This record gives sequence, C-alpha cells and structure tokens, in this order.
Amino acid sequence: MEDPLVPSACPAPLATASGLGSEDTIVAIATPPGRGGVGVVRLSGPRALEIAGSVIRASHWPPQTQRATLGFFHDPASGRLLDEVIVVAFRAPHSYTAEDLVEISCHGAPVLLAYLVECCLKQGARPAEPGEFTLRAFLNGRMDLTQAEAVRDLIESRTLYQARVAAQQLQGSLSALLTPHKQALLELIARLEAGIDFAEDDVPVSDWEEIARGLDSIRAPLERLAAGYEYGRIVREGLSLAIVGRPNVGKSSLFNRLLNEERAIVTATPGTTRDLITESANLDGIPLRLVDTAGIRHTQDEAEAIGVRKTFQAIADSDLRLLVVDASEGWTPGDAELLERLLPLGALLIVCNKCDLPRRITPELMVQVTAPEAVLGAEGGGPDVAATPRTPGVVWTSALTGEGLPELKRKVREVAAPAACLGEGGLLTNLRHHQLIQDSLAALGRARTAAEKRVHHEMLLLDLYDALHALDNITGATTTEDILGVIFSTFCVGK
Ligand code: GDP
Repeated sequence: MEDPLVPSACPAPLATASGLGSEDTIVAIATPPGRGGVGVVRLSGPRALEIAGSVIRASHWPPQTQRATLGFFHDPASGRLLDEVIVVAFRAPHSYTAEDLVEISCHGAPVLLAYLVECCLKQGARPAEPGEFTLRAFLNGRMDLTQAEAVRDLIESRTLYQARVAAQQLQGSLSALLTPHKQALLELIARLEAGIDFAEDDVPVSDWEEIARGLDSIRAPLERLAAGYEYGRIVREGLSLAIVGRPNVGKSSLFNRLLNEERAIVTATPGTTRDLITESANLDGIPLRLVDTAGIRHTQDEAEAIGVRKTFQAIADSDLRLLVVDASEGWTPGDAELLERLLPLGALLIVCNKCDLPRRITPELMVQVTAPEAVLGAEGGGPDVAATPRTPGVVWTSALTGEGLPELKRKVREVAAPAACLGEGGLLTNLRHHQLIQDSLAALGRARTAAEKRVHHEMLLLDLYDALHALDNITGATTTEDILGVIFSTFCVGK
C-alpha cells in the first residue's frame, strides 16, 4: 500500500536525472579578460587532474588537495618553460562543482592563459560554456538554483550592500525561507490526497475551515516576501530618481550634490539643462540612478519641448520623484501644477531648496499644500489624484551650502527601503523568483476560492500542485532544462 502521507503526483527531482551529465572535462579562463598580476585557468571533470598533470610539471603529482603547489608550465611543442604557476587541486565531491577540479594560477598574460587552455583542449578537455562550472555545481546537488543565481548576482554586485544580500542568498537564505512553506503545502496536499485515496476506509477528510486556515497560513508569508520584492529589485538594479521642478530652482545643483561631482551643466539662465542626464551614485549601498530632467515650462522652442516630453516619460518611469521648489521665491502656481501632475505617479518628495536665502515658503504652508484634502480639492484633481491620497514628504535643503542633504539622502533611502523590508535574509531580488512567488500565490488564491465553494478535493489539489511547482521552480527541484538554459546563459565563461 502507498504511504498516505506521500502525495501520489509528487514531482520527481530533475537535477540528477538531467541529460547534462559531466563525462566531459571542461576548461576555461576564470579571471576577467585582460592583463593582470594573476590569471586563473580552471578545469573540472573526471580527467581534470590527469589533463592538468600533462601540461604542468610539479615536484609531486597529483598535488596534495586543497593546498597550493608550485608547478611549471612548459610548452609541450618545444619543451621550453613558459611560466611558473600555482596549482590547487580539489577532489570530488569537495570542490565548487563537486567534481575533480583544478585551478592553475599563472601570471595574467592573455596569450599565456589562452595557450594553456589550448594545451588542455589538446589533451581532451572541452571549452566550458558560460556558467557551466556553476551549472555543474547545481546539477551535482552542490547548490540549488537560488544559490547558483546568487553567484551571478555576487559577481555582478556594484556595492558592498548588494554583495552582502547576494552572499546571504548564496548561503541558501531564500531556500531556507521557502522550505517551511513548501513543507506546509506538501502536508496539506498529502492530507487531501489521503482523504481521496482512502475515502472508503473512513480516513477523516479535512474539514473546509481547516483547509482554508492552512492555505492562509501559507499565503501570508509568501505575500510578505512578494511585497519585499520592490525593495529587493531596488537593491539589485538600483533606484531611479527623477528630479523635477521649474527652471532655475536648483535641480542641477542638487543633482551634482547627490553625485558629489560636477556632471550636469549648472547655469543661471532658465531652461538650459535640455537633455536628460542619467548618472549613478551610491546611496548607502543602493545604486541610485539619477535622472536630471529638463526644466518644465510651457515653451515654443522645439528642442526644449522635446526635453519636456522626455521629462514626463522619465518621471513616470522612475521609482521616486523629487519635486524641487525654490523656497526663496515662494510656492508658485507652477509648483502647484507640477505637484498635481506628480501626485498620481507614486512616491514623491518635495524639496524646498535655496534655504540659505530668506525663505518665502513656510513649513505651515507646506503642510497646507500637501494635506490630502488640499490636494484632493486642487483644481483639475480628477479621479487619479483621489486614488492616491498619500502625503509627500518635505525636505529643506540648500544645494549651495549642502544644508539638508543628509536628510534628503535619508528620506530617499527611506522611500527606497521601508523599514519593514530592511531584513536582508531571504530578500527577493530576482524577477524570476518574484514571478514564481506570484504564480504560487495565484494558485493558492484559486485553491482558497475553491475551498470556499467546497468543490471536490481533486480539483483543489490541481491548484495546490500548481502552487507547489511554482515554489519548486525557485529552488530548482522540478526545473526543466529550458529554464536552466535561460539562467546559466547569463553567466560568463569560467564561472
Ligand atoms: P535648475 O535649472 O533647476 O537645474 O537650477 P540650477 O541648479 O541650474 O540652479 C540655478 C541657479 O540657482 C544657479 O545659479 C545656482 O547656483 C543657484 N542655486 C541652486 N541651488 C541653490 C541654493 O540652494 N541656494 C542658492 N542661493 N542658490 C542656488
């Protein structure tokens, strides 16, 4: 008799059954292209040690594993010495790929590294495909898919903070977070399967409330995880910030302050910053993509009109908007018009700049201007505005003296990373993962509706399996080779 707690349609793990076997020994240069102090050639596969041994001479071979051994690379054609190298050998399964693996550190001359690879190829190795070392690590069960993807993120990280998030995922933080929910789902499936298979044997069928409760307890943490994706995406891709305002309010100056260098053209003539300028800065580890926009005003000038159109596109596409106003000039109808247009677009901060000059905008006025009822009552408000009754934050700055800049950065960061999302463990940074969590949630939602309608358990199970498969695809238990192809093709050779 089948174990009633093992679901009958439980998916078979694909990893070890994959046709991508590692009979071959692969070789690649693992260090970036170009000249350097050291360049590393990596071999992995059953003949790694043998092939390395045929091109490198060392005082003893095979070298002691996981120890640096001095060796010499001689040109097999002439027998002449080409380089003095350091060899480190790893025996399966105690290596990155879980196969026999050899790393040969040469001096980083591209011609030398290419020739060493060529010599290994002549000895029967095959050139590695992009990401193939990590793919083998995955296929050999050394890491799951989230960890393999974390390798890529770690290599691509541009800030230490990004590296830290990727390193945590490399440690399996996301998988660890998902495992209990997958387990709970599996148990629910098992209970329902048992209820169906043994209905005649009087095995009690779970009651509907219990099923609904079980579903809710799985959905809630997944929903929290999905909600944190926006922050995860920002950590991974950076936050895009559009700086908007009437001409001459100090947008370019603020932009430069945020970048800490002079990039945008600063001038006292209105309307001169015609082009969008995109630059990257690093805000406490989060890459910031700043978009300085052309001054917005009604204009007859064609070039400037193009700038204004581009401005609105950039504004709509950004994660956060800064509306810069000139505090020394006062709150103008132009500022009010811009506020009205920006409010429906999402996260917004109002920056009252030029605070070093006598102020004609008071905090009280800003409270009045940003109060939801004032905003809703504003002329031309329309239903879109009413749909987003959020109050924009206000910051007081002087781009000239730097006053208020730390506060501005803090507020930007706060918008990018709401306190609730700040835990780095199990942060969802990857679009693929996010879509799969959404798929899983959608299936759980369907199951919940089905439970409410008390449809037959077999129908409910279909949705539960969909939900489980989506989660499995994150870590890789049921991943098809198509998905593997997509993921590993984004790696570079030698990783
Ligand atoms: P944009 O047209 O909005 O990009 O404005 P700019 O950054 O080009 O600045 C317009 C003028 O205002 C320049 O002369 C700046 O030096 C000046 N300016 C910008 N920010 C400040 C500020 O905080 N205080 C003062 N006093 N002048 C500023």
